[in-house]
Amino acid sequence: MTNLDDLLSQAIESFNGIEDAVELEQAKARYLGRTGSLTELLRGLGRLPPEERPAMGSRINQAKEVLEAALNLRRDAIQKKNMEAQLIGEELDVTLPGRGQGIGGLHPITRTLERIESLFHSIGFTVASGPEIETDFYNFTALNIPEHHPARAMHDTFYIEGTTGHLLRTHTSPVQIRYMQNHEPPLKVIAPGRVYRRDSDLTHTPMFHQVEGLWIAENANFSALKGVLSDFMQQFFERDDLRVRFRASFFPFTEPSAEMDIGCVMCSNGCRVCGYTGWLEVLGCGMVHPVVLKHVDIDSEKYIGFAFGLGVERLAMLRYEVNDLRLFFENDLRFLKQFN
Ligand SMILES: [Zn+2]
Repeated sequence: MTNLDDLLSQAIESFNGIEDAVELEQAKARYLGRTGSLTELLRGLGRLPPEERPAMGSRINQAKEVLEAALNLRRDAIQKKNMEAQLIGEELDVTLPGRGQGIGGLHPITRTLERIESLFHSIGFTVASGPEIETDFYNFTALNIPEHHPARAMHDTFYIEGTTGHLLRTHTSPVQIRYMQNHEPPLKVIAPGRVYRRDSDLTHTPMFHQVEGLWIAENANFSALKGVLSDFMQQFFERDDLRVRFRASFFPFTEPSAEMDIGCVMCSNGCRVCGYTGWLEVLGCGMVHPVVLKHVDIDSEKYIGFAFGLGVERLAMLRYEVNDLRLFFENDLRFLKQFN
């Protein structure tokens, strides 16, 4: 059976001429597959005289082993060649210019929030946070704004459909209620965060940031309130000579209540920002109403406290001299890059 040797050398030659892994497997099938030439030879054994079968069978099996070894060698060679080609293709071109790091920066509102938090933290205030979806109780009732109270109309509230009176908080005061429920006085806490009202124009956006503060102690009085807030504003605007004034006002959750104004930081004798008055409204404040303390089981005979609330965007606009609130939320990099 001389054609076995021919077949063997023909197959090896064919394997060695192949450069592609798929083609190699196809070639393998031609010789060793179910209908391959070598397999056909094995099948033909039965037609040989019985005495010739064992010798021929072992020759065919040897040939099969030789072929498989040749096939494996070729497989390895092809794989190695492919890998080398890939490595060369991915070689680093050190002459290309770098892509740069594209380091981001903090948003001006985040910077302002951090500044406010660190100033209050330095005089012993804790920072607390709470949910942005609130219940009617925490957002209104506990703050002495019962149902049908006209003050509810001042808060253009987003209510959440399909819930039992859940809403997007209109101020961060609910955080103070939650905090008082879980902490014993004396306590000093600020609650920074996002709040929501149905408002949109040059100076209002439906989402904005507030920081509400609360100080409950046996001896917290109105002059302490004035001292804390005056110091804060002077440090925030870095002006020791910043003028402040307190005007009587009304909030349901404080009694007495006041609006705090600071001397205009943009001008010395009247400008558009201060409406040519020389004064800027910056926050609301007052002594905590006893009804609020009662809602959180704090003895209003023993403890007294003051509270205040300020708009973060308002302070950021004044500090950075930004004249349109909406710029903060349009994400225009030309605007945002100026703060980093
Ligand atoms: Zn002014």
